[in-house]
Amino acid sequence: MIGDKRKFIPVSHPILGAKEKQLVQECLDSSWVSSAGRFIPLFEEAFARYCGVPYGVAASSGTAALHLALLAMGVRPGDEVIVPGLTYVATANAVVYCGARPVFVDSEHETWNLDVRRVRECITPKTRGIIVVHLYGHPVDMDPILELARRRRLFVIEDAAQAHGAEYRGKRVGSLGELGVFSFFGNKIITTGEGGMVVTRDPDLRDRLRLLRGQGMDPGRRYWFPVVGYNYRMTNIQAALGLAQLEYIQERLEERRQVASWYYRELARLHDYLQLPVEREWARHVFWLFGIVLREKVALDRDHFMAALAEAGVETRPFFYPIHILPPHRDASARCPVAEAIAARGISLPTHSLLTEDEVRYIARQVEVLCRS
Ligand SMILES: *Cc1c(COP(=O)(O)O)cnc(C)c1O
Repeated sequence: MIGDKRKFIPVSHPILGAKEKQLVQECLDSSWVSSAGRFIPLFEEAFARYCGVPYGVAASSGTAALHLALLAMGVRPGDEVIVPGLTYVATANAVVYCGARPVFVDSEHETWNLDVRRVRECITPKTRGIIVVHLYGHPVDMDPILELARRRRLFVIEDAAQAHGAEYRGKRVGSLGELGVFSFFGNKIITTGEGGMVVTRDPDLRDRLRLLRGQGMDPGRRYWFPVVGYNYRMTNIQAALGLAQLEYIQERLEERRQVASWYYRELARLHDYLQLPVEREWARHVFWLFGIVLREKVALDRDHFMAALAEAGVETRPFFYPIHILPPHRDASARCPVAEAIAARGISLPTHSLLTEDEVRYIARQVEVLCRS
């Protein structure tokens, strides 16, 4: 807006409007600011319904929701849980919170999601379940996973923290495994500031999640605690934000797809230099972040590429490090060469609702110059 202000295009940007203000204002005016209040059950019901399941249990963060999900499935010290090598660290951390061991499975070259064909070789007598992650908003190929899990009596938790509204064969993610986990962190598809939710069809799992979330207090007997629980509650203010955000999720998803279609059009000519996201025929991708993976032909290394984009006012993110190389999760036995290769050369470009066609064109032009340099 100001003529001499340097261009800065952020990687993500939440959209907060009049509805958010109105509902948060209602919390303040009514003094229902903590973890009781009408917006919490309203948000839980509305978001679960959006996912196509009856129950939602809101939590203070996506990570807390993942932890609750694993506890509700009965994960205990000594157990193993299969997780993708390429994901945000919270997926593996939640397994460690339970005293269990995350076992890292390699990625698919094209969708960047966990490779279903590699899951079988990760199963041991200690394996209790699988956490699939719909990475960057593209759903995992669920049918083979669910089939394998059924045969081997394993649970499937969907970490859908990056994929609100994404669809697998016409069904929303979060509704496909025993439990679906979402995050509402500030850079996710919809936000509550910090926040998360577990969604499920199973009323017993819902009750267990609620118990563990609320310090373990017996719902029928005040200050009686049959188990050690946690304080993982969401506040009414967060839920008010979430309810307002949910009202506009369809618009937000359409805007993201529009941005993605501009990127596809503008980057298509760089096919020899860049690997772009795919969308399988059974998938509806929500493009949480539009990623590119630099091919061999790009002379510049990934970090210099990103630094040059930052110089041009374009904020980016590197792909996640594969978890098995991070100090607390280091695992020399993990075999994730595809995840390692993608992680080392992947860059997430700005992806949010406020991006204009001109900005996407500008970003693509900067990318092109760097590819050819
Ligand atoms: C964001 C995210 C989480 C954690 O959510 P928080 O709300 O930040 O705790 C978990 N898993 C994945 C894949 C994520 O992207």
